[in-house]
Amino acid sequence: MSEASIQRIEAHSAMIGTGLPIRRALPHKLRRMIGAWCFLDHAGPVSGEQGLRVGPHPHIGLQTFTWMIEGELLHRDSLGYEQRIRPGQVNLMTAGRGIAHSEESLPGHSRLHSAQLWIALPDAQRHAEPAFAHYPELPVLNHAGWRVSVLAGECEGERSPAQVYTPLLGLELVSAADADAQLRLNPDFEHGALVLDGEVAVGTEAIKPGTLLYLAPGHERVCVRTAAAARALLIGGSPFSERILLWWNFVARSQAEVEQAARDWNAGQRFGEVRGYDGPRLTAPELVGLHLRA
Ligand code: MN
Repeated sequence: MSEASIQRIEAHSAMIGTGLPIRRALPHKLRRMIGAWCFLDHAGPVSGEQGLRVGPHPHIGLQTFTWMIEGELLHRDSLGYEQRIRPGQVNLMTAGRGIAHSEESLPGHSRLHSAQLWIALPDAQRHAEPAFAHYPELPVLNHAGWRVSVLAGECEGERSPAQVYTPLLGLELVSAADADAQLRLNPDFEHGALVLDGEVAVGTEAIKPGTLLYLAPGHERVCVRTAAAARALLIGGSPFSERILLWWNFVARSQAEVEQAARDWNAGQRFGEVRGYDGPRLTAPELVGLHLRA
Protein backbone atom coordinates (compact mmCIF):
# COMPACT_ATOMS: atom_id res chain seq x y z
CA MET A 1 0.00 0.00 0.00
CA SER A 2 1.71 3.20 -1.08
CA GLU A 3 1.61 6.00 1.46
CA ALA A 4 0.38 8.55 -1.06
CA SER A 5 -2.84 6.67 -1.56
CA ILE A 6 -3.92 6.60 2.08
CA GLN A 7 -5.19 9.37 4.30
CA ARG A 8 -6.00 9.49 8.02
CA ILE A 9 -9.14 11.46 8.81
CA GLU A 10 -10.00 12.36 12.41
CA ALA A 11 -13.76 12.31 13.03
CA HIS A 12 -15.20 15.34 14.77
CA SER A 13 -17.65 15.37 17.65
CA ALA A 14 -21.24 16.39 17.07
CA MET A 15 -24.55 16.19 18.91
CA ILE A 16 -27.64 14.57 17.49
CA GLY A 17 -31.24 14.57 18.63
CA THR A 18 -31.78 15.81 22.15
CA GLY A 19 -28.07 15.79 22.98
CA LEU A 20 -26.43 12.47 22.18
CA PRO A 21 -22.72 12.95 21.41
CA ILE A 22 -21.49 11.10 18.31
CA ARG A 23 -18.37 10.93 16.14
CA ARG A 24 -18.87 12.24 12.61
CA ALA A 25 -16.33 10.86 10.13
CA LEU A 26 -18.05 12.09 6.95
CA PRO A 27 -18.37 14.64 5.57
CA HIS A 28 -14.95 16.01 6.53
CA LYS A 29 -13.05 18.93 5.06
CA LEU A 30 -10.40 16.47 3.87
CA ARG A 31 -12.91 14.06 2.41
CA ARG A 32 -16.55 14.77 1.56
CA MET A 33 -17.51 11.33 0.23
CA ILE A 34 -16.33 7.74 -0.22
CA GLY A 35 -18.15 6.44 -3.27
CA ALA A 36 -21.74 7.60 -2.77
CA TRP A 37 -21.36 7.37 1.04
CA CYS A 38 -21.62 11.03 2.03
CA PHE A 39 -22.25 10.91 5.77
CA LEU A 40 -21.00 8.63 8.54
CA ASP A 41 -21.96 8.98 12.19
CA HIS A 42 -20.78 6.57 14.89
CA ALA A 43 -23.00 6.72 17.99
CA GLY A 44 -21.94 5.12 21.26
CA PRO A 45 -21.49 2.74 22.82
CA VAL A 46 -23.32 4.73 25.50
CA SER A 47 -25.88 4.19 28.21
CA GLY A 48 -27.96 7.32 28.52
CA GLU A 49 -31.03 8.07 30.54
CA GLN A 50 -33.19 8.50 27.49
CA GLY A 51 -30.99 7.17 24.68
CA LEU A 52 -31.55 8.75 21.29
CA ARG A 53 -34.49 10.98 20.38
CA VAL A 54 -34.53 12.68 16.98
CA GLY A 55 -37.85 14.34 16.23
CA PRO A 56 -39.51 14.40 12.80
CA HIS A 57 -37.22 15.87 10.14
CA PRO A 58 -37.07 15.71 6.33
CA HIS A 59 -34.60 14.26 3.83
CA ILE A 60 -34.20 14.59 0.07
CA GLY A 61 -31.80 13.09 -2.48
CA LEU A 62 -30.27 10.41 -0.28
CA GLN A 63 -30.72 7.08 1.46
CA THR A 64 -30.29 6.81 5.23
CA PHE A 65 -28.60 3.55 6.20
CA THR A 66 -28.85 2.62 9.87
CA TRP A 67 -26.82 -0.27 11.31
CA MET A 68 -27.55 -1.34 14.88
CA ILE A 69 -24.86 -2.86 17.08
CA GLU A 70 -26.42 -2.53 20.56
CA GLY A 71 -29.80 -1.28 21.70
CA GLU A 72 -33.00 -0.78 19.76
CA LEU A 73 -34.48 2.18 17.94
CA LEU A 74 -37.93 2.89 16.58
CA HIS A 75 -38.21 4.49 13.15
CA ARG A 76 -41.43 6.23 12.07
CA ASP A 77 -41.86 7.94 8.72
CA SER A 78 -44.27 9.95 6.64
CA LEU A 79 -45.09 6.89 4.50
CA GLY A 80 -46.57 5.33 7.64
CA TYR A 81 -43.79 2.85 8.40
CA GLU A 82 -43.16 2.17 12.06
CA GLN A 83 -40.16 -0.14 12.35
CA ARG A 84 -38.17 -1.32 15.33
CA ILE A 85 -34.53 -2.03 14.51
CA ARG A 86 -32.42 -4.47 16.56
CA PRO A 87 -28.71 -5.38 16.54
CA GLY A 88 -27.59 -6.95 13.29
CA GLN A 89 -30.37 -5.26 11.30
CA VAL A 90 -30.47 -2.47 8.74
CA ASN A 91 -33.07 0.23 8.14
CA LEU A 92 -32.70 1.73 4.68
CA MET A 93 -34.82 4.76 3.92
CA THR A 94 -34.77 6.11 0.38
CA ALA A 95 -35.73 9.76 0.50
CA GLY A 96 -35.93 10.40 -3.23
CA ARG A 97 -37.90 13.62 -3.71
CA GLY A 98 -38.80 13.83 -0.03
CA ILE A 99 -39.63 11.93 3.15
CA ALA A 100 -39.73 12.72 6.86
CA HIS A 101 -38.93 10.44 9.78
CA SER A 102 -38.22 10.26 13.50
CA GLU A 103 -35.87 7.98 15.42
CA GLU A 104 -36.07 7.17 19.12
CA SER A 105 -34.81 4.74 21.72
CA LEU A 106 -37.52 2.60 23.25
CA PRO A 107 -38.16 2.46 26.98
CA GLY A 108 -35.72 0.04 28.57
CA HIS A 109 -33.29 0.37 25.66
CA SER A 110 -31.17 3.34 26.64
CA ARG A 111 -27.99 1.45 25.69
CA LEU A 112 -26.99 2.47 22.19
CA HIS A 113 -24.26 1.60 19.73
CA SER A 114 -24.96 2.23 16.06
CA ALA A 115 -23.77 3.74 12.83
CA GLN A 116 -25.82 5.88 10.51
CA LEU A 117 -24.62 6.51 7.00
CA TRP A 118 -26.14 8.44 4.13
CA ILE A 119 -25.85 7.45 0.50
CA ALA A 120 -26.17 10.17 -2.15
CA LEU A 121 -28.66 9.20 -4.83
CA PRO A 122 -27.54 9.68 -8.45
CA ASP A 123 -29.45 12.13 -10.63
CA ALA A 124 -31.55 9.36 -12.20
CA GLN A 125 -32.99 8.30 -8.81
CA ARG A 126 -32.95 11.40 -6.67
CA HIS A 127 -36.40 12.61 -7.68
CA ALA A 128 -38.04 9.18 -7.34
CA GLU A 129 -40.83 8.32 -4.91
CA PRO A 130 -39.64 7.77 -1.33
CA ALA A 131 -39.38 4.23 0.05
CA PHE A 132 -38.45 2.39 3.23
CA ALA A 133 -37.00 -1.10 3.71
CA HIS A 134 -36.04 -3.07 6.80
CA TYR A 135 -33.51 -5.87 6.45
CA PRO A 136 -33.79 -8.18 9.48
CA GLU A 137 -30.74 -10.22 8.50
CA LEU A 138 -27.64 -9.58 6.44
CA PRO A 139 -25.31 -12.21 4.94
CA VAL A 140 -22.45 -13.17 7.25
CA LEU A 141 -19.23 -14.94 6.38
CA ASN A 142 -16.28 -16.05 8.44
CA HIS A 143 -12.97 -14.93 7.08
CA ALA A 144 -9.64 -15.62 8.83
CA GLY A 145 -10.94 -14.87 12.30
CA TRP A 146 -13.27 -12.05 11.33
CA ARG A 147 -17.04 -12.37 11.27
CA VAL A 148 -17.96 -10.26 8.25
CA SER A 149 -21.49 -8.92 7.79
CA VAL A 150 -22.19 -7.80 4.24
CA LEU A 151 -24.22 -4.62 4.71
CA ALA A 152 -24.03 -3.30 1.16
CA GLY A 153 -22.62 -4.69 -2.06
CA GLU A 154 -20.75 -7.99 -2.26
CA CYS A 155 -17.91 -9.77 -0.47
CA GLU A 156 -16.49 -13.24 -1.18
CA GLY A 157 -19.62 -14.22 -3.12
CA GLU A 158 -22.10 -13.00 -0.50
CA ARG A 159 -24.35 -10.14 -1.58
CA SER A 160 -26.33 -7.75 0.61
CA PRO A 161 -30.05 -7.48 -0.16
CA ALA A 162 -29.93 -3.72 0.55
CA GLN A 163 -31.04 -1.86 -2.57
CA VAL A 164 -28.60 0.84 -3.55
CA TYR A 165 -28.20 2.74 -6.82
CA THR A 166 -24.46 3.07 -7.37
CA PRO A 167 -21.64 0.51 -6.95
CA LEU A 168 -21.04 0.36 -3.18
CA LEU A 169 -19.49 -1.76 -0.47
CA GLY A 170 -20.35 -1.83 3.22
CA LEU A 171 -18.88 -4.46 5.55
CA GLU A 172 -18.76 -4.83 9.30
CA LEU A 173 -15.89 -6.90 10.64
CA VAL A 174 -16.10 -8.27 14.18
CA SER A 175 -13.60 -10.39 16.04
CA ALA A 176 -13.67 -11.74 19.61
CA ALA A 177 -9.89 -12.30 19.61
CA ASP A 178 -6.93 -11.92 17.27
CA ALA A 179 -7.69 -12.03 13.55
CA ASP A 180 -5.72 -11.41 10.39
CA ALA A 181 -7.49 -11.42 7.05
CA GLN A 182 -6.64 -10.34 3.57
CA LEU A 183 -9.70 -8.90 1.85
CA ARG A 184 -9.97 -8.58 -1.89
CA LEU A 185 -11.00 -5.09 -2.94
CA ASN A 186 -12.46 -3.71 -6.14
CA PRO A 187 -9.57 -1.56 -7.44
CA ASP A 188 -12.09 0.81 -9.08
CA PHE A 189 -13.49 1.66 -5.64
CA GLU A 190 -12.20 4.09 -3.07
CA HIS A 191 -12.53 2.73 0.50
CA GLY A 192 -12.69 3.86 4.08
CA ALA A 193 -12.10 1.90 7.30
CA LEU A 194 -13.53 3.09 10.60
CA VAL A 195 -12.94 1.26 13.89
CA LEU A 196 -16.02 1.03 16.12
CA ASP A 197 -14.36 -0.84 18.98
CA GLY A 198 -10.80 -1.91 19.82
CA GLU A 199 -7.76 -1.33 17.65
CA VAL A 200 -7.28 -2.54 14.10
CA ALA A 201 -4.38 -2.41 11.65
CA VAL A 202 -5.46 -1.74 8.09
CA GLY A 203 -2.40 -2.41 5.98
CA THR A 204 0.39 -0.70 7.90
CA GLU A 205 -1.90 1.84 9.62
CA ALA A 206 -3.15 1.17 13.16
CA ILE A 207 -6.46 2.89 13.85
CA LYS A 208 -8.78 3.28 16.82
CA PRO A 209 -12.33 4.63 17.15
CA GLY A 210 -12.43 8.18 15.83
CA THR A 211 -10.06 7.70 12.90
CA LEU A 212 -11.30 7.02 9.36
CA LEU A 213 -8.61 5.57 7.11
CA TYR A 214 -9.15 6.48 3.46
CA LEU A 215 -7.79 4.30 0.65
CA ALA A 216 -7.77 5.79 -2.84
CA PRO A 217 -8.80 3.67 -5.84
CA GLY A 218 -6.18 1.20 -7.02
CA HIS A 219 -5.99 -1.14 -4.02
CA GLU A 220 -6.64 -4.76 -4.99
CA ARG A 221 -6.46 -6.14 -1.46
CA VAL A 222 -5.99 -5.03 2.10
CA CYS A 223 -4.88 -6.80 5.28
CA VAL A 224 -7.08 -6.20 8.30
CA ARG A 225 -5.55 -7.35 11.58
CA THR A 226 -6.31 -7.17 15.26
CA ALA A 227 -4.61 -8.60 18.34
CA ALA A 228 -7.78 -8.58 20.45
CA ALA A 229 -11.55 -8.12 20.29
CA ALA A 230 -12.43 -5.45 17.74
CA ARG A 231 -15.15 -4.15 15.44
CA ALA A 232 -14.72 -2.09 12.29
CA LEU A 233 -16.61 -0.84 9.27
CA LEU A 234 -15.18 -1.00 5.76
CA ILE A 235 -17.05 1.12 3.23
CA GLY A 236 -16.29 1.75 -0.42
CA GLY A 237 -17.65 2.63 -3.79
CA SER A 238 -16.96 4.05 -7.22
CA PRO A 239 -15.99 7.71 -6.82
CA PHE A 240 -19.27 9.63 -7.13
CA SER A 241 -19.20 11.52 -10.41
CA GLU A 242 -21.88 14.11 -9.62
CA ARG A 243 -21.16 17.26 -7.68
CA ILE A 244 -23.47 17.31 -4.68
CA LEU A 245 -24.62 19.94 -2.23
CA LEU A 246 -25.07 18.53 1.29
CA TRP A 247 -26.92 20.86 3.64
CA TRP A 248 -28.69 19.89 6.90
CA ASN A 249 -30.63 16.73 5.97
CA PHE A 250 -30.67 17.36 2.25
CA VAL A 251 -28.52 16.18 -0.65
CA ALA A 252 -29.12 18.34 -3.69
CA ARG A 253 -27.26 19.94 -6.58
CA SER A 254 -28.07 23.62 -6.11
CA GLN A 255 -28.70 26.15 -3.37
CA ALA A 256 -32.15 26.85 -4.86
CA GLU A 257 -33.12 23.21 -4.32
CA VAL A 258 -32.13 23.16 -0.65
CA GLU A 259 -33.83 26.52 -0.06
CA GLN A 260 -37.02 25.17 -1.58
CA ALA A 261 -36.84 21.97 0.49
CA ALA A 262 -36.25 23.97 3.70
CA ARG A 263 -39.16 26.30 2.93
CA ASP A 264 -41.45 23.37 2.11
CA TRP A 265 -40.54 21.57 5.34
CA ASN A 266 -40.93 24.63 7.54
CA ALA A 267 -44.30 25.36 5.87
CA GLY A 268 -45.51 21.80 6.51
CA GLN A 269 -45.68 20.95 2.81
CA ARG A 270 -44.34 18.23 0.50
CA PHE A 271 -42.92 15.79 3.07
CA GLY A 272 -46.08 14.44 4.68
CA GLU A 273 -46.48 13.88 8.37
CA VAL A 274 -44.76 11.57 10.85
CA ARG A 275 -47.45 10.26 13.21
CA GLY A 276 -46.97 8.95 16.72
CA TYR A 277 -43.76 10.69 17.78
CA ASP A 278 -44.22 12.31 21.17
CA GLY A 279 -42.28 15.53 20.72
CA PRO A 280 -41.67 18.49 18.45
CA ARG A 281 -40.66 18.29 14.80
CA LEU A 282 -37.29 19.83 13.91
CA THR A 283 -37.11 23.16 12.08
CA ALA A 284 -34.76 23.73 9.16
CA PRO A 285 -32.06 26.22 10.25
CA GLU A 286 -31.09 29.38 8.43
CA LEU A 287 -29.15 28.63 5.25
CA VAL A 288 -25.52 29.13 6.17
CA GLY A 289 -22.40 27.08 5.52
CA LEU A 290 -23.36 25.43 2.28
CA HIS A 291 -20.81 22.83 1.19
CA LEU A 292 -20.25 22.02 -2.45
CA ARG A 293 -18.16 18.94 -2.91
CA ALA A 294 -14.61 20.02 -3.67
MN1 MN B 1 -32.75 11.38 9.49
